[in-house]
Amino acid sequence: MLRFNRSLTLAALALVGAAELFAAVPMTKVMLLTGQSSKYHDWTKSAPLVKSYLDQTGLFAVDVVTTPPAGADMAGFNPKFADYAAIVIVYEGAEWPAATKAAFVAYMKKGGGLVTIHDTDNAFPFWPEWNEMIGVGGWGMKPDGGIGARNESWGPKLRWRDGQVIFDATTPGNATHPARHDFPVVTRTAAHPVMQGIPASWLHANDEIYSQLRGPAKNVRVLATALADKTRFPTATGEHEPMLMAISYGQGRVFHSTLGHVGPNDKPPYTSLVCAGFIVTLQRGTEWAASGTVTQTLPADFPTAEKTSLRLK
Ligand SMILES: [Zn+2]
Repeated sequence: MLRFNRSLTLAALALVGAAELFAAVPMTKVMLLTGQSSKYHDWTKSAPLVKSYLDQTGLFAVDVVTTPPAGADMAGFNPKFADYAAIVIVYEGAEWPAATKAAFVAYMKKGGGLVTIHDTDNAFPFWPEWNEMIGVGGWGMKPDGGIGARNESWGPKLRWRDGQVIFDATTPGNATHPARHDFPVVTRTAAHPVMQGIPASWLHANDEIYSQLRGPAKNVRVLATALADKTRFPTATGEHEPMLMAISYGQGRVFHSTLGHVGPNDKPPYTSLVCAGFIVTLQRGTEWAASGTVTQTLPADFPTAEKTSLRLK
């Protein structure tokens, strides 16, 4: 009986503690929007991990919004963007209805937050406002269902040369990437809230270095870059490619991570997605997109210049 009472007391205390915690730190509403991939990626593998990473911060109340599947009628897809401080999009699929696109543009212009990862770079090549939001993108589905819509006419490539961003509109070549491997991600804008405390260089695990992305490239701050080793990957660009970007669009903020490849045939662990560097930059980027600030401290397991760091549990 004594034990029973003690359990009750502990449970009551825990409830009080939880209530106080929620009262002290209101959760920020974030939408995770997902539901379609091209044949090269698999949102059913990446989106649940992204959801868990956002939940782990304790900062966000995350609602998952799933589009109709590929080929299904999209007419009724019209989520209430305005209810959320940020929209995290893991999506590479069919166009949304015009009214939904217009609502998303209005949401962003009024100060909304957007976070995109890897495969989302390839969404909506023919949506001009979207291209402005993400700054630069790659590939993209053509009307015939093939991949590779984004070409020279979409805009310049962003390069980091001699300590600054260069807009390269003359070198030919469109989106590409070397085979997956571990590579250093180099901090370029250390003072940005997302990047504070992050090492000058850290080793990201087994991912694709998205290269030669193109777009309007307006109002982009390049936060971090990566360079493929041409001795190992002779067809690599030899350029410092933007990996993490912060973009302003109207009053809105966009955190754009090119990291996070997972393909339909991959088996867990999905190495690029369980990299602590991917996780932490996503968590911080989401807080920044939602609020303009970052309160999260850098965890002890962040990768170093020499060693990747995987969260395998
Ligand atoms: Zn990929």
